[in-house]
Amino acid sequence: MNMQRRELLKAASAAGALGSLGLAGCATGGAGVPDKTRVLVVGGGYGGATAAKYVRLLSGYKIDVVLVEPNDAFVSCPISNLVLGGSKTLADITVPYAGLSAAHGVRVVKDTVASIDPAKKLAVLASGPSIRYDKLVLSPGVELMWDSVAGLREANAQGTVLQAWKAGPETLALRRQLEAMPDGGVYAITIPEAPYRCPPGPYERACQVASYFKTAKPRSKVLILDANPDVTSKGGLFKKVWAEQYPGMVEYRPQHKTTAVDAKAGTVKFEVQGDVRADVLNVLPSMRAGAIAVQTGLANANARWCHVNFLNFESTVAKDIHVLGDSIQLAPAMPKSAHMANNHAKVAAAAIVAELNGWEVNPAPLLTNTCYSFVDAKNVIHVASVHEYVAAEKTFKTVAGSGGVSSAPSELEGVYAWNWARTIWADALG
Ligand SMILES: Cc1cc2nc3c(=O)[nH]c(=O)nc-3n(C[C@H](O)[C@H](O)[C@H](O)COP(=O)(O)OP(=O)(O)OC[C@H]3O[C@@H](n4cnc5c(N)ncnc54)[C@H](O)[C@@H]3O)c2cc1C
Repeated sequence: MNMQRRELLKAASAAGALGSLGLAGCATGGAGVPDKTRVLVVGGGYGGATAAKYVRLLSGYKIDVVLVEPNDAFVSCPISNLVLGGSKTLADITVPYAGLSAAHGVRVVKDTVASIDPAKKLAVLASGPSIRYDKLVLSPGVELMWDSVAGLREANAQGTVLQAWKAGPETLALRRQLEAMPDGGVYAITIPEAPYRCPPGPYERACQVASYFKTAKPRSKVLILDANPDVTSKGGLFKKVWAEQYPGMVEYRPQHKTTAVDAKAGTVKFEVQGDVRADVLNVLPSMRAGAIAVQTGLANANARWCHVNFLNFESTVAKDIHVLGDSIQLAPAMPKSAHMANNHAKVAAAAIVAELNGWEVNPAPLLTNTCYSFVDAKNVIHVASVHEYVAAEKTFKTVAGSGGVSSAPSELEGVYAWNWARTIWADALG
């Protein structure tokens, strides 16, 4: 019986409730669980799922990996704007976690980590039990800073002003708002100051909504109200698309820092400019590291993001806690993207396996990034970059001459974009 098959059978028998995983109350390993070296992964998104799989793979399936994630399945943010545009469904961007357990023996626990005790190396689940770890990987994504926009928390709770910046039911709710909007109405998206999750994401979303309006409600408008001084990613390309593909429909306004929403009146207020009214308001507030990272005291960069050692992604304040993805304080020119989170995870997984085995950690890691944006249902533009670790500065820097941007949108890049999505889903979860 090969190793993978053995793991598959082990995982199958281990699947299900926490008790049957042998993890319940297992501060010291739990009855029936061999006291193996354990990596606990918090968050099954792009960073966490990839890290869980790669710690298993790179350790020759010797390290026990437990992944805690509250959602039933992985729902991808990349491509989720196409659900708003109407050319894709939520089912098209949903991947089950079964692959991680069946093919790689990752023990997936459907729960939320409520607190972490770095001194005792314990994570407490919202349902009560705690899990011991030797190394903890934290990839909780972003927390939306509701209080940065007055009235937004209440408006979101009432379902009137949505964000849909975590793909799932809110993506569908926003799509329904767009469908219900009369022809001649206005959709407005507000963008916070960088850094925020996915620099080109809001501009891609504007294109997707415009693409839907162009056929379904051609008298409608898309307003982009950006706190930044200019488009933060692929600016020239997006502006050309808005002017040529959606003339008179998409309007871009920089320097619009949102301070408040009035859901009843349908208005947004800004630090400097006058109020704007819209039929569908899609207000993105400022963002910070996922709540569990902030709560654990790891957000030591402006109380928002987590500084890490870029050789192993270990928090600079908590030993054996490795933070990945959107939650970290970025290196120069590094975007908060799924591709990056996936790459962080591989560097971290290799370092974790090396450290747990007493091997040397790779002193020269490399990261790559490609972000594709759909400007309609089929045509796509991209930005790409390569980032190398610069030991003298203890950070990643882009490799001179690497990467670049598309010259124009094309259907061929649309094919590449879909292949990128399928490949990264298989890489992280398959
Ligand atoms: C509309 C949109 C479009 C995008 N398009 C692209 C794109 O085309 N290309 C690209 O590269 N990137 C894109 N991104 C960015 C990308 O989605 C993020 O950068 C990526 O998801 C970051 O990965 P992560 O692991 O940090 O967080 P996530 O993928 O968000 O994963 C975090 C996970 O942690 C879980 N979690 C949080 N707290 C806890 C806890 N206490 N206990 C247990 N689990 C917890 C959450 O449920 C979640 O599953 C897009 C984002 C958006 C919003």
